[in-house]
Amino acid sequence: MIELTHIEKRFGDNIVLRDISVLLPESTVTALVGPSGGGKSTLLRCINLLETPTFGKIRVGSEEIELTPDRKLGWKSIQSLRRQTGMVFQSFQLFPHRTAIGNVMEGLVTVLKWPADKARKRAIELLEKVGMAHKADAWPATLSGGQQQRVAIARALAPSPRVLLCDEPTSALDPELAEEVVDVLSQLARENTTMVMATHDLRLASRVANKVLFLDGGLIVESGEPREIFASPQQERTKKFIASLS
Ligand code: ADP
Ligand code: MG
Repeated sequence: MIELTHIEKRFGDNIVLRDISVLLPESTVTALVGPSGGGKSTLLRCINLLETPTFGKIRVGSEEIELTPDRKLGWKSIQSLRRQTGMVFQSFQLFPHRTAIGNVMEGLVTVLKWPADKARKRAIELLEKVGMAHKADAWPATLSGGQQQRVAIARALAPSPRVLLCDEPTSALDPELAEEVVDVLSQLARENTTMVMATHDLRLASRVANKVLFLDGGLIVESGEPREIFASPQQERTKKFIASLS
């Protein structure tokens, strides 16, 4: 499980996350929704220390790190926390000079030092899971956006992270291609993959998430089940945001 305790993040004088404490249980999917600039990506990136919180405590599984501005984190502790997580980006970010299967194998071989045949076997399993085994030898540039994102999901899952973090995984895709990615994420959710996703795709959030956190101005303004939040938001800011999307 993931626990964030009193997380604050500042960029200079700009306080972007304000005292966020939240528990994200194992085998659940949490969607971070809310207006642009609300802090969704920053919160997601704090979980794997792509951003260093200014204050607060992060626990992912058994790895725990406490941050204060005067404490410089060692590369070792960053790595051991980061290895508990896999990340999927809006813009896929596949290695262009690796085939689909090469992308999925890369971290297993270079970081985890798996032998190539073991990595290949794992990669094929994952490409099958995301419906991309038939494109194992294709180059990223020859794949559609939806196909690239499915390979990126397979790559993120390869080292069996405790949590899959997705930042706007469908936002760069046309609706039809977004749908293939939503299908894959919703299959992973059914298989009890722990996920946290920042998204303004309410369809994705309502199909996949167990819980929605509505983030605005660096605060969790409201949280609850997708149905509750989307059908009957309680807070003014949430109401306004939901109304602006429909
Ligand atoms: P969201 O993902 O909800 O759109 P972000 O987390 O990207 O929001 O941004 C929250 C706020 O943090 C914004 O005001 C943004 O300008 C600021 N911010 C994000 N990343 C940086 C950065 N690297 N440096 C300075 N400010 C940043
Ligand atoms: Mg964002």
